[in-house]
Amino acid sequence: MDKARKFGFTTTILHSDRQKAIEHGSLHKPIHTAVAYGYKDARELAEVFQGKKPGYRYGRQGNPTVSALEDKITRMEDGLVTLCFSTGMAAIGALAQGLLRAGDHVVSSSFLFGNTNSLWQTVDLQGMPVSFVDPTDVANVERALQPNTRLVFVETIANPRTQVADLERIGALCRERGILYVVDNTMTSPYLFRPNAVGASLVINALTKSIAGHGNALGGSLTDTGLFDWTQFPNIATSYKRFPPQHWGIAQLRAKALRDFGGALGPEAAHHISVGAETMALRIERESANALALAKMLDADDRIAAVYYPGLPHHPQHAISTKLFRAYGGMLSFELKPGIDCFDYMNRLQIAVPASNLGDTRTLVIPVAHTIFHEMGPERRASMGIAESLIRVSVGIEDTEDLLEDFKQALG
Ligand SMILES: *Cc1c(COP(=O)(O)O)cnc(C)c1O
Repeated sequence: MDKARKFGFTTTILHSDRQKAIEHGSLHKPIHTAVAYGYKDARELAEVFQGKKPGYRYGRQGNPTVSALEDKITRMEDGLVTLCFSTGMAAIGALAQGLLRAGDHVVSSSFLFGNTNSLWQTVDLQGMPVSFVDPTDVANVERALQPNTRLVFVETIANPRTQVADLERIGALCRERGILYVVDNTMTSPYLFRPNAVGASLVINALTKSIAGHGNALGGSLTDTGLFDWTQFPNIATSYKRFPPQHWGIAQLRAKALRDFGGALGPEAAHHISVGAETMALRIERESANALALAKMLDADDRIAAVYYPGLPHHPQHAISTKLFRAYGGMLSFELKPGIDCFDYMNRLQIAVPASNLGDTRTLVIPVAHTIFHEMGPERRASMGIAESLIRVSVGIEDTEDLLEDFKQALG
């Protein structure tokens, strides 16, 4: 706007933000709610649209508050670049929308967050077959590979049974075969583990969980570690090859998944997630210490049939977890012996809340087979090692003694 020209009251107010810098040295990135971005020079607008100049155009394709969070996550993951989405599932769905074509093949861990399992079944029906394998041994992944395998997908610590994928060796296999290696880092978070250390190409984080940490905002992210050679990936459209090759994948994901399917993260949610992220390390230290103490206590009680937690010495992947992760995280699960009803048990808990979230500051419990894994049916549940009495615990930051006492008294 030309300062010398006089406009009416409303016009002036509507456009006054653009008269000066808007950050004011604010310590927190402001919440930018504008959907559209105006330019003095129409040619500049065209250059921004063509990717020749940095800038914002329309909220679905980028927002300054969201960009600030993306940069934060890139730093957390020590990656190249990050895209944020409205939820963790939108970030995972972006893989299929943005990178796969009919006839491509996917190899996925069979130990998965329930909705990711459901998503891969949809992708399979849409003409991109998905093979599910036990990822705790790289040999199972290797056996499932086909000439048209474009992507291997694993979680670090699988929700809810805590199996840990053979992360390093799957990384080496994918690198050798030139296959995209996608690691869902939600259960470890970039504080406990950086998947770039095992050669991951893309990293998923459900920001809803440990990164926000307070259960007040949904969000997801996809970080390119910079390790994958996109020139070897056959599905990049010509128009995204105008960028340097390291950015081909994210450029296509930004357009084909985020822009076209529209799962954009809102600026308010981005702000809440950013604020939560500041205390992530403190929370996760406390959650991990609480979870280890709780796992040990339950493990020593003969009324408990099984405890699953990577921090326990008898966990099948205890050694690899100790090697790769800073701590074992805040999720554990356990089975009660017959005779104690899992619903009655949870109803006797006074601190832990029956609820379906992870990485909250409060301890949450859920009867997995009857809730999040109900839809898939008993057969698939059994194949994933999910007993009908399995209780998943998302351990919070309560005082340790209070938490241990609560889980003990509920045994009756
Ligand atoms: C929660 C979760 C997701 C999905 O995140 P939303 O934000 O709930 O969509 C994906 N992966 C894992 C491992 C999760 O725990």
